[in-house]
Amino acid sequence: MPKPLTDQEKRKQISVRGLAGVENVSDLKTNFNRHLHFTLVKDRNVATKRDYYFALANTVRDHLVGRWIRTQQHYYEKDPKRVYYLSLEFYMGRTLQNTMVNLALENACDEATYQLGLDMEELQDIEEDAGLGNGGLGRLAACFLDSMASLGLAAYGYGIRYEFGIFNQKIVNGWQVEEADDWLRYGNPWEKARPEYMRPVHFYGRVEHTPEGVKWVDTQVVLALPYDTPVPGYRNNVVNTMRLWSAKAPCDFNLKDFNVGGYIQAVLDRNLAENISRVLYPNDNFFEGKELRLKQEYFVVAATLQDIVRRFKSSKFGSTEVVRVDLSTLPDKVAIQLNDTHPALAIPELMRILLDTEHQTWEKAWDIVTRTCAYTNHTVLPEALERWPIDLFQNLLPRHLEIIFEINRRHLERIANLYPGDHDRLRRMSLVEEGDQKKINMAHLCIVGSHAVNGVARIHSDIIKATLYKKKLLFYFGVRLLRGGPPQVPEQDQWHHTATLAGHVQSWTDFGIHVLPYVFLHFPQAAPGYHTAKLIIRLITAVGDIVNHDEVVGDRLKVIFLENYKVTLAEKIIPASDLSEQISTAGTEASGTGNMKFMLNGALTIGTMDGANVEMAEEAGEENLFIFGMRVDDVDAMDKNGYDAMEYYNRIPELKLAMDQIAGGYFSPDQHDLFKDIVNMLLHHDRFKVFADYEAYIKCQDKVSALYKNPKEWTKMVIHNIAGCGKFSSDRTISQYAREIWGMEPSLERIPKWFRNLKSPL
Ligand SMILES: *Cc1c(COP(=O)(O)O)cnc(C)c1O
Repeated sequence: MPKPLTDQEKRKQISVRGLAGVENVSDLKTNFNRHLHFTLVKDRNVATKRDYYFALANTVRDHLVGRWIRTQQHYYEKDPKRVYYLSLEFYMGRTLQNTMVNLALENACDEATYQLGLDMEELQDIEEDAGLGNGGLGRLAACFLDSMASLGLAAYGYGIRYEFGIFNQKIVNGWQVEEADDWLRYGNPWEKARPEYMRPVHFYGRVEHTPEGVKWVDTQVVLALPYDTPVPGYRNNVVNTMRLWSAKAPCDFNLKDFNVGGYIQAVLDRNLAENISRVLYPNDNFFEGKELRLKQEYFVVAATLQDIVRRFKSSKFGSTEVVRVDLSTLPDKVAIQLNDTHPALAIPELMRILLDTEHQTWEKAWDIVTRTCAYTNHTVLPEALERWPIDLFQNLLPRHLEIIFEINRRHLERIANLYPGDHDRLRRMSLVEEGDQKKINMAHLCIVGSHAVNGVARIHSDIIKATLYKKKLLFYFGVRLLRGGPPQVPEQDQWHHTATLAGHVQSWTDFGIHVLPYVFLHFPQAAPGYHTAKLIIRLITAVGDIVNHDEVVGDRLKVIFLENYKVTLAEKIIPASDLSEQISTAGTEASGTGNMKFMLNGALTIGTMDGANVEMAEEAGEENLFIFGMRVDDVDAMDKNGYDAMEYYNRIPELKLAMDQIAGGYFSPDQHDLFKDIVNMLLHHDRFKVFADYEAYIKCQDKVSALYKNPKEWTKMVIHNIAGCGKFSSDRTISQYAREIWGMEPSLERIPKWFRNLKSPL
C-alpha cells in the first residue's frame, strides 16, 4: 500500500498542480481579500475561520454570476422546452467544492488559499450541509439537477426553503437524540432572495359557482418568497436555477380580524403563516398525514405553477417577444416531473388554473394537464403511500377537492365502460378510498393525471406494473455519485480514504480503525417518532459496547456507529469502504442508491436480488457480486405458504443463541428486557421475514471473508464493478428521461460552442 503523504508533501503537490491555473491565483487572492474587507467587513487580525470560508465562498460564487445570467438570457432568447422538477426535498449537501470542481477552479483556489496561509479543506469543513432531504429521494433530486445542467437542459428545481433541514443526530447514552438543524444561522452565501417575484398562495375559504364561472373566495393568503440557488453544469458554462420558496405572512395578516386580540397578537400570529416553510418532515418512506405537511405540498405547487405559467406566457417566440394568450401549447414547452406524490397537487392546481382562470373546457384542460405532467413512484410499501383524509382536503383546499372528484367521476366512467360490471375493479382503481374515513389516494391521482409513470429501478417498475392497473412508460434510474462531473474511475488510493475516515472516527471513538481486519460501520437514522427504529439504534450501540471491549474478540472486530449520517459524511464513508451491504428482503427496496455509489467507488456488494442490485449484477456480472437469499418469486411463494420465524429460530443454533442473548440482556446488562420487543417482532411479526435469508447471508459472508484474503481476486472483482457501473450515472438516467418522458433530445449541442468554451467569468 502506498504511504500517505505528509502535509509538506501534499503542499508541494498542490503548488505544482496550482501552476495550471496560475493566472487565476492572483485574481482569486485579490477577490478573497476584497470580500473579506467589503463583504465580511473584517481584517486578518480579527477574521475567524468562518469569515475565511465566507470570503472563499463569495469569491467562487462570483464566477457563477455571469454564467448564470447568460444561461437564463440564452433560455429566454431560444425558448427551449423547460423541465420543471418538483420535489419536497433537495438533499444538496455542501456547495463550495462542487462549484469549484464544475468550474475547474479547485486547484487555483487551493493554491490561492495556501499562499494566503490558509488550509482550504479546513475552510470547506465550515460549510453547513443543505440537508433539505431525508435520503435517497432528496439526494436523487440533487443529482438530477446536476445532470440536467451538465446535459444543457433548460431545467428548474422547485421546492421549499426549509428553515430547518433534516435533524442533527446525536447519540446520548446509546440512544438517538435529535437536534434542530439551524443551517441558515450564519447565512447562506449560495442563495439569492428574489422578493420581486413573491407570489400569493391561498388556503381554506369556500367555492362559489356563479354564471361567470367558479370562484374560490374568503381564502387566507400566505406569500411565497423565492430564493434562487445556482446549479452549475460540469464545465459547460451552464448555470441553471433551483428555486426554493419561503413562507411570508402578508402585511395585513390577521389585521382585518379585529376579534383575534388586536395588533400585537396579529403580528405574533404571523408565525402561523410562516411556519409552512419552517421544517422538513423527517419521514423517509412514511406517510404521517399532518395538515401542515399538506399545506407545504400545496404551497410549493401553487407558487411554482404561477411561475411556470408566467414564464410560459412571457417567453420569446423566435426573435419577437410575444405574450402567449392561452395555454394550449403548454405541453410542447413545459414538462413537469413529480418526484413521488408529494407534489401531486400540481395536477388539480393546473386544472384549476385552466378552468377557473383561463376558462378552458374540461376536456381541453385535462388534455393539457396530462400531456404536461409525469410521475415517478418511489416505493410500494403501503405505509409510505399518501392517502389524505377528505375532511382535511375539504377544509384546506375545497376547490381542489371538487376537481379531484370530477377527475375521479370521469375516470371511473371510463373504467366502467371498459370493464362493465367489474365493481371490484372500480373500487381498486378509484381515487377515493371508501372506509370509516374517506381518503384521496395520491398515487392514483398521479397515475391518472400523467402521460408517463416510472419506477426507480427495473424490478421496481416491473412490480408496479404488476400491481397497478395501468401500463404506462416505466423507467428506471441511476445516480451520479453525490456531486461532481461525469463518472470517472475513482482514485484507487483506498489507504488515503480509509485514513481520512479513520481520522473522523478516531475523533469520536477510543480507537483507530484502519489497522483492524473487520470493522462494521453502521449509520442508521430513525424518524423521531419511530419507536422500533430507535430501539434498533440502541441495540447497535449496545452490541458495539460489548463487542468493542471484549477480550476474546480483541482487535479482530469492531462495531462502529457513525452518527449524523448526511451527504458530507457519505462522501467520507463510501470511498473508504470495502464491502457494501444491500440486504433488503427482495421486493421491498425500490432501488437503493447507496448501492450504486459504493459500486462506483470500488466497494464490492453483498446483497439480495432487490432494487438496483439486480441491474448491478447484470452490468458487472453476477459472479462479481456476492448475491444471496430469496428472489421476489420465493418471497411471494412464502407469502402464500406462510412464514414461520420460529422454525428458523429452533433449527439454527447460532441464530437462537443470538436472539436469546439479545432478549436476555447480554447486551443490556443494566436492563435485561430492553430489547425484548425487537426479538418479539423478529420471532412473531416480522413483515420482512429476515430469518428466511439468515443462513444464506452467513454462508455468503464466509465467501466474502475467503475472497478478501486474496487481494488479487478481490481487486479483479472491484475492477469489473467499476467498469460496469456506467449505467448508474444520473447523466444516463436524465438522458433517458429527456427522450422517453419529456420529448427532448439531450445533447451538448443544445449549448452553443462559443458558450460552452467561454474561458473567463462573464
Ligand atoms: C445516497 C444517500 C442516501 C440514500 O441511500 P440509499 O442506499 O438509497 O437508502 C441517504 N442519505 C445520504 C446522505 C445519501 O448520500
